[in-house]
Amino acid sequence: MTQGSFVPGHRGPAFVAGEVVCCLFQGSRLLVARGADGLPQLPQLDAAACGLPLKSAQYLGRLEGRHCYGLHLPPQAKLPGGLELLGLRALILEGNDLASALAGQAFQLLEWERTHRFCGSCGAPTTPHAADRAVECAECRIVYYPRISPVMMALVHRGNGASGELLLTRKPNYAPGRYTVVAGFVEAGESLEQCLAREVKEEVGVDIREPRYFGSQPWPFPNSLVMAFSAEWAGGEVDPDPAELEDAQWFSIDALPELPEPVHISRQLIDDTIARLRGS
Ligand SMILES: [Zn+2]
Repeated sequence: MTQGSFVPGHRGPAFVAGEVVCCLFQGSRLLVARGADGLPQLPQLDAAACGLPLKSAQYLGRLEGRHCYGLHLPPQAKLPGGLELLGLRALILEGNDLASALAGQAFQLLEWERTHRFCGSCGAPTTPHAADRAVECAECRIVYYPRISPVMMALVHRGNGASGELLLTRKPNYAPGRYTVVAGFVEAGESLEQCLAREVKEEVGVDIREPRYFGSQPWPFPNSLVMAFSAEWAGGEVDPDPAELEDAQWFSIDALPELPEPVHISRQLIDDTIARLRGS
């Protein structure tokens, strides 16, 4: 089941019976079915009859009326016939948006659950919180919520129309010839605007003005929320940080290098900015 209406929720019935939609992970790989179109789909299983030794469950919501769960499968579990294991990154790149979003959410929640079984302050076991999607220390009552790490993404541009240019960067581990935008984690005590200016200055040495929000994308490797902005170049020469980057340079919008796949918000930000520069 990959299309249709999804209603998110964090409290649902225990994983006990009936047909449910599953984001079933064995390690970091997800169990998928293949639809008639060949695209990966989340399997529907009868929770009572599937025979799987399911370890834990995070409730995700209802997809076309069916309850939806994220679960871990033990490493030795025998997989049901007709299903295959697929890496989460591969699922996202294959372009099934709803399955990718649900599986990404499930993966983040399961990882959070796995790494918060004990209190970081006193070491006592945690238990599910009564009201929120959270766990609570049984002894000192500290509440731990799912961890989300904000990442700022900046596409710096200058010029208009045919003379428009984008400042793009390349790290050593990228695919050959590929460039993308500046990105970095928000630091404690920092506003998004301060983070944007700092990351651009640190990574490529230039100043920016008039940041413009484009959009956001959860990125579950392991728990990022990417917030994408474009910004005008305000001064300074490009000076890539050698600790982070292999290269950074201005590219004409008519002579761009290889870019990230369209599923990435970085690519959507680049495409949107080019369209605005061409139209201005
Ligand atoms: Zn505690």
